[in-house]
Amino acid sequence: MNNQGSLVVVSGFSGAGKGTLIKALLEKYDNYALSISATTRQPREGEADGREYFFVTREKFEQMIKDKQLIEYAQYVNNYYGTPKQYVSQKMAEGKDVILEIEIQGALKIKEQFPEALLLFVVPPSAGELRRRLLRRGTESMEVIQARLCRAADEAQGMSSYHYLLINDDIDTCVEDMHQMIRLQRFRTTTNQDFIGKMQKELNATVLITGQLSK
Ligand code: 5GP
Repeated sequence: MNNQGSLVVVSGFSGAGKGTLIKALLEKYDNYALSISATTRQPREGEADGREYFFVTREKFEQMIKDKQLIEYAQYVNNYYGTPKQYVSQKMAEGKDVILEIEIQGALKIKEQFPEALLLFVVPPSAGELRRRLLRRGTESMEVIQARLCRAADEAQGMSSYHYLLINDDIDTCVEDMHQMIRLQRFRTTTNQDFIGKMQKELNATVLITGQLSK
């Protein structure tokens, strides 16, 4: 079977809890690696360069695009965000399942480039619950909450492009569901073309040999 790790895209509405979910998954299982994106946005309080993101200038980001160092990139609210290629290929070669926490434009580019990638979309159980969660955080103004809900309504248009929905009702159940969805990737026929080719050749040879022996 294929020993290469798989590529897993995780998107979801702001407030759906995808960050918490990914953190819990990484703590529970050691077969995962989380890709760290490059961005031109300013670090928020508590964020460190090389941990949440690689914070770079616009010039540096555009150079990275030119040098083909990114697997995908997108503009999101006036800033660039992109996935550096090197870390992802290295970790996949080591057999790690690499998680990309990215928005939908990037997710669709990954789907085009890597048809075997798994695309997951994290949603809260209902729109009402999303609103409640955003209000409960208590850190944002009504205006910001309204903007996030508007964005969620836009993003909901693209949900059918993803393979699976992860309904984040109970965090432990959701982590387990996510782990199982990713685990099954390893058995997909599309990711095991080498194995299939080898099996077909061996079967043909076996048929030949058995045929000769039975003469
Ligand atoms: P934030 O500024 O809140 O950290 O991220 C804004 C959005 O950018 C989120 O939806 C996040 O998933 C997305 N994002 C983060 N890194 C990347 C990336 O490398 N590529 C793309 N396409 N989106 C990203």
